[in-house]
Amino acid sequence: MARGAAPVHIDREARHVTLDRVPAWVCYQCDEAYFEEGEVKKIQEVIQSVEKKAAEIVSIPPYAINR
Ligand SMILES: [Zn+2]
Repeated sequence: MARGAAPVHIDREARHVTLDRVPAWVCYQCDEAYFEEGEVKKIQEVIQSVEKKAAEIVSIPPYAINR
């Protein structure tokens, strides 16, 4: 494993966020990325704030609610 960076894709109903270069440990063999706790926490905070603010302005079709 080497210290590097990896992209994070957040895909929710009608909400998509991409973070290009989040610090991570990357596997030499398969390129799999592993994030440390601090980064995981911050990614979760990004998801939470996007969800909160997007809910105020992003329209979701009725059929998609409660899924
Ligand atoms: Zn691997």
